[in-house]
Amino acid sequence: MFSYRHAFHAGNHADVLKHTALIAVLRHMTQKDTALNVFDTHAGAGLYRLDGDYAQTSGEAADGFLRLISKENQTLPLKEQAPAAIKNAAKPAPPSNPLPAALQDYVDVVASFNKGTSHTVYPGSPFIIQHLLQGRDRDRLKLFELHPTDAKTLRANIAQLEAGRLITVHQEDSFEGLKKFLPPPSRRALVLCDPSYELKTDYARVIAMMTDAVQRFATGTYMVWYPIIPRPEAHDLPRKLKTLAVREGRPWLNATLTVKSSKLTTDDEGDVVRPGLPSSGVFVINPPHTLKATLKEALGAAAKLLAQDKNKGFEVESGS
Ligand code: SAM
Repeated sequence: MFSYRHAFHAGNHADVLKHTALIAVLRHMTQKDTALNVFDTHAGAGLYRLDGDYAQTSGEAADGFLRLISKENQTLPLKEQAPAAIKNAAKPAPPSNPLPAALQDYVDVVASFNKGTSHTVYPGSPFIIQHLLQGRDRDRLKLFELHPTDAKTLRANIAQLEAGRLITVHQEDSFEGLKKFLPPPSRRALVLCDPSYELKTDYARVIAMMTDAVQRFATGTYMVWYPIIPRPEAHDLPRKLKTLAVREGRPWLNATLTVKSSKLTTDDEGDVVRPGLPSSGVFVINPPHTLKATLKEALGAAAKLLAQDKNKGFEVESGS
């Protein structure tokens, strides 16, 4: 069984990219009243604690979401950021330089899961999606999670919402399981595909799943998150998704966010230190026409605020 647990990574810079894009896509898709089906193929546990053992051990949220909302933190030396960011993270005070609308929307959505003044809860994609579908009784949200522990936690978290048939949890392999739901009856759908890529075969399975899905249901919106790491399969993934979109005649968008150099360094004892995840991307097939401008503005600000060294940056490219 997999060892990946999203609790270590919740609220990191990859979540900032993915969840900002997810919210922007859903804001657009929920402008129409027609029933919408949302599929979260790699759902995770649903809710995470930023003051819990997992998040504190990794400190990743401190360099991600908590950095966005902690004004004073941006001037601290990097080593001091993790504890300070968690302690000082307050409800977002009006910053002197306001965040772009989509980034502020993301911050506000996360803030809505927290009571009082500190940010201790971070919503994963299932809860972010559910938040945006509130009041839309005809929509359906299907969540896939294979890991038994996370699936159990997800079910318990979702049960608290008393959402009845609106939200269903499927403890199964989504690479196979998605097929039976496409095309959806309402002919409107968003598929979020966010694997852990713990298995090298995930890259090929993402391509196979997307190829099958687009052929079954060409007009759905498909969003794939991927890591940008020195591994051929990771490098090829956006290129293969672009080939798929172009071959099927569908518009596409690729957005990346980089917060630090990908170079290996050495510590005081001469041991090689890996940099951790420096960049990631989201590839969207059939994106809302507003997404490119929205993400350019949001990721420009995110790259500056989350930069860990001078290698920060972002890119948003699209085609049709
Ligand atoms: N989407 C979540 C979010 O944004 O909050 C994070 C998901 S995490 C990156 C990936 C999850 O996919 C893990 O919880 C893992 O157990 C699960 N997973 C891995 N392979 C899977 C598969 N074949 N089908 C369904 N879930 C899978």
